[in-house]
Amino acid sequence: MELDFVASLLSRIPADPRLEVPPGDDAAVLRPPAERRTVVTVDMLMEGVDFILDEACDPRLVGHKALAVNLSDLAAMAARPEAAVVAVALPRRGGDSLGRGLLDGILALAAEQGITLAGGDTNAWDGPLVISITAVGSVPPGRAWRRDGARPGDLLVVSGACGGSLLGRHLAVVPRCREALAIADRFPVHAAIDVSDGLSLDLSRLMQASGTAAVIDLAAIPIHPDANRMAGIPGDGRSPLDHALADGEDFELLLAMPAADARRLAVEAVDLAGTPFTVIGEVVEGAGILARAADGSTAALAPRGYEHAFTG
Ligand SMILES: [Mg+2]
Repeated sequence: MELDFVASLLSRIPADPRLEVPPGDDAAVLRPPAERRTVVTVDMLMEGVDFILDEACDPRLVGHKALAVNLSDLAAMAARPEAAVVAVALPRRGGDSLGRGLLDGILALAAEQGITLAGGDTNAWDGPLVISITAVGSVPPGRAWRRDGARPGDLLVVSGACGGSLLGRHLAVVPRCREALAIADRFPVHAAIDVSDGLSLDLSRLMQASGTAAVIDLAAIPIHPDANRMAGIPGDGRSPLDHALADGEDFELLLAMPAADARRLAVEAVDLAGTPFTVIGEVVEGAGILARAADGSTAALAPRGYEHAFTG
């Protein structure tokens, strides 16, 4: 089974000039782009934790998501996607069709985002599906966006809208790679992160890394229609704004930029693949997050979102 799977995988990977030795050898050999730095990121998804295979979630979507979350991290570094390798642990029962579905989702997104598959490893076991993708990107020297560069006076900008991702966007992730590269070409960005665990939690990480604080305007937070839908579910008991601040898996870009550039980006974003960018607040001296209400009053905001739990 494994040989078949690997052979079908190999036969379906389009040739790519970035691969000096394509997959199928002991290892692939990449041609690094001249005068660029290599950016590497890895992410693992586990059935039962990150997704549940059911009618709403087929293997294609899992493959798509496994690559998309890596692409989102590359976007948050302003890195151009180059190559990815895939490792899967397939459950023995149904593993073959599962593996093919995963590959469908991975290859479709790889073609769309211009990343080549450089290889993979397939295992079968009696456990649930586990898939881990490592992605490689490239960026000009010194031009990677980092978390630690926000400065007082910067404005905070977020792409798209947040909240309610569990209604489907947590699987059908749209990584903001094109937007990030277009912005990196045209605007100075002092600090960046992608919103994976929750807007307020990821904002607090950005501010902590930069040694700064944030004041956000609650009325400015772009709330996704899914956040409204979730808040409307009987028994939900949370506001759309709360969903937007804490749900996570939005995979939007959160940027700290010089004020004039942030305002220009928010106006010009229509050129960036149609993705809207919204100014949600400013960077100030200090620590933590202050939330400013419509009446101008402020209150400390405790960052909330998804955190992996450990014991022992
Ligand atoms: Mg990230």
